[in-house]
Amino acid sequence: MTAPDRTGPALWSAQAHMPSVLGRQLTITRGEGNYVFTSDGQRLFDGTAGLWHANIGHGRAEMAEVAAEQMRTLETYHVFGRYLNDRAVELAERVRDLSPVDDAKVILNSGGSDSIDVALKLARRYWQLRGRHDKTVVLSRDLSYHGLHAFGTSVAGLDFNREGYGTDALVPETARIDTADIERVRQRVAEIGPDRIAAIIAEPIQGTGGVIPPAPGYLEGLQRIADEHDILFIADEVITGFGRTGTWFASERYGIRPDIITMAKGISSGYSAVGGIIVAPEVWEPFYTDDAPIYRHGTTYSGHATSAALALKNLEIIEREGLLDRVRSLETVLADELAGIAADPRVAATRVAGFLGGIELGPAHSAERITDAMVDEGWIARPLRGNVVQISPPFTTTDAEVRGIVAAVRAGLDATSGATA
Ligand code: PLP
Repeated sequence: MTAPDRTGPALWSAQAHMPSVLGRQLTITRGEGNYVFTSDGQRLFDGTAGLWHANIGHGRAEMAEVAAEQMRTLETYHVFGRYLNDRAVELAERVRDLSPVDDAKVILNSGGSDSIDVALKLARRYWQLRGRHDKTVVLSRDLSYHGLHAFGTSVAGLDFNREGYGTDALVPETARIDTADIERVRQRVAEIGPDRIAAIIAEPIQGTGGVIPPAPGYLEGLQRIADEHDILFIADEVITGFGRTGTWFASERYGIRPDIITMAKGISSGYSAVGGIIVAPEVWEPFYTDDAPIYRHGTTYSGHATSAALALKNLEIIEREGLLDRVRSLETVLADELAGIAADPRVAATRVAGFLGGIELGPAHSAERITDAMVDEGWIARPLRGNVVQISPPFTTTDAEVRGIVAAVRAGLDATSGATA
């Protein structure tokens, strides 16, 4: 073992191979629209909207004013027991009204991984309450990403996120299902036994797994299997929720009606740490009867008032600026550009769904090296599993910027392969 490098900031990034990043970390100090600025003064186009979250763009003064106003009035008050705060109530109503699930209830928390915990605990708690004590297993798709808290780690379909925590998963009784083939899912459900399965969780479009839209009929197939076998169907819309696919939720786009939807990121576009779940009546009703138990889940900052105020303003901006329409039009531009680069022999495949694109490179090329080269030229893109370059800029992106970032991928390929297309 070599000696650990003791230089660098006190901040341990945790989601980084520290020896590889020390000495070359990029500190972002300012954001403006679709751009961020580093401590060295470099201006970078945010081609990933951070971690698929900065949907309305950076540095909006209107958001700062909302935060200041709310802080002056009430920074927050918790929502345990009898207590509520008015911003949390308003946000839940707004989300319920936008949601594809009628008559839903909404639980709020602080981010995507939180939402996974609250959703999967609720799925198990629900079946216990219904007297179906054996229904505890949670199924998730191969290549899935559901955040990195204990439950998200345990259902991860990206094996590297599940490894290293001992011989069993952090949370027991989880299993993976095929990510594209619905017949194989059916077989797996039969093998495990539907009476043991509490829930199936699925990202409508797999993000971190490499930007993988669902195979035709796959999500509807999952919904059917879930319905037939009394299994809760959970759509993880942490990336896709609030407009990324041109509808408020991808569930609308793909014609599914989940029992629970998890959300985060785009609910506030990152102006505050908010996540939550949308719960259909069949799941919340048993907790609202006289003899019902408490669903014991909550944190100090569930329904944080200032966070909620920022989420409300973010949703207002998406509506006021017609950003869902804009996403639909950006999807077309991105699809055209990706069709162009797909013809490059160095590119293995391209995928697009909503304003979410992936460029899978051939084995002789490295998404990691190309995205590093792109940053040098002022364009942020991100390498994903499967040698894929992620493109998911803010909804406020111009057509020219979409063309610019795809051209930057091509330039990155040229710079790192020493060839011209
Ligand atoms: N679920 C999905 C589909 C995600 O993409 C993510 C984050 O990228 C999460 C859950 C976890 O969200 P967070 O990082 O806010 O905890």
